[in-house]
Amino acid sequence: MITKIATLGSHTALNILRGAKDEGFETLLIASKKRSFYSRFNVADKIMYVDNMGEFLAQKQNTFGKDSVVVPHGSFISYLSIDFIEKEFNVPLFGNKFMFRWESDRNLENEWLKGAKIHTPKVFDDPSEIDRLAIVKHFGAKGGRGYFLARDYNDFKKKSSGITGEYQIQEYVIGVPMYFHFFYSPLDREVELLSIDRRYETNVDSMMRIPADDQKELGIAPSYVVVGNFPLVIRESMLEDVFDMGEKVVKMSQKIDDKGLIGPFCLETICTPDLEIVAFEISARIVAGTNPFIPSSPYTYLKYGKDISCGRRIAMEIKKAIESDSLEEVTT
Ligand code: AMP
Repeated sequence: MITKIATLGSHTALNILRGAKDEGFETLLIASKKRSFYSRFNVADKIMYVDNMGEFLAQKQNTFGKDSVVVPHGSFISYLSIDFIEKEFNVPLFGNKFMFRWESDRNLENEWLKGAKIHTPKVFDDPSEIDRLAIVKHFGAKGGRGYFLARDYNDFKKKSSGITGEYQIQEYVIGVPMYFHFFYSPLDREVELLSIDRRYETNVDSMMRIPADDQKELGIAPSYVVVGNFPLVIRESMLEDVFDMGEKVVKMSQKIDDKGLIGPFCLETICTPDLEIVAFEISARIVAGTNPFIPSSPYTYLKYGKDISCGRRIAMEIKKAIESDSLEEVTT
């Protein structure tokens, strides 16, 4: 019998555990010893401190017990290999772990978004094809560190001397970033819009505070390292396009894997001056951009008439699945 929601101390852990408690679950947090701040928030009934998270998850899965569902987040995926998660992680995970491979590999991700027939940036197969402003994304780049912009092949050659390994070159879409947090409920067969955020990225979000002449002189290159998130709402007339995009991505996920997307997912987009929403990335699990929406977001309040965060929406789905004896529909 599942009574407990567990997660790892990072990313959206506070969000997940608060939501779980609000729905009446017991909560368990596995955290690194350096993160004692978790005990200050009273959202974990039990905190287990570990030295090495990756090693713990690989060797001590039985710690979770038979009464737990684990909610994975961005850091969970980075602690373990996708192969390990797919084949050897035995504790029920909320969501579809078989979609993680598709969000982690830029080529598969591109195939997914293209297959969904939503607007995506042009991808240049070879640097010599760059014919407009492009953003070069190194596969190993964490949090947008090490991305660079290139105007053409010569510019690419100048800036790419230090990169090794795989990278993707995307058209740089001019517009404003908007990150849409969706939730697909297999129990209700419905795509919900939970919230929208935009990121606070250092140093790119502060470059306009430096006069252009000084920027040139200092030769500062933009980096996109995320340090926080702002809440957003979108023009109401654009909501139809937003839901349409979310639904297409879910449909395509069901062609990729029988179960398709389950629970929270995020489309990272740029909205152009022509009001076209261009998706450049997808996350197949809860994203940190949902954190400003504790305890609620405009869209979840509109739908439910009460405060619902992403963490709480996850717990609601798990609870409904337990009550209807269909936990296997929302876990993998
Ligand atoms: P990512 O780490 O892929 O989410 O990208 C980091 C940041 O780079 C985003 O928040 C955007 O500001 C910017 N970005 C990424 N891809 C594109 C693109 N194709 N066009 C314009 N901006 C982009």
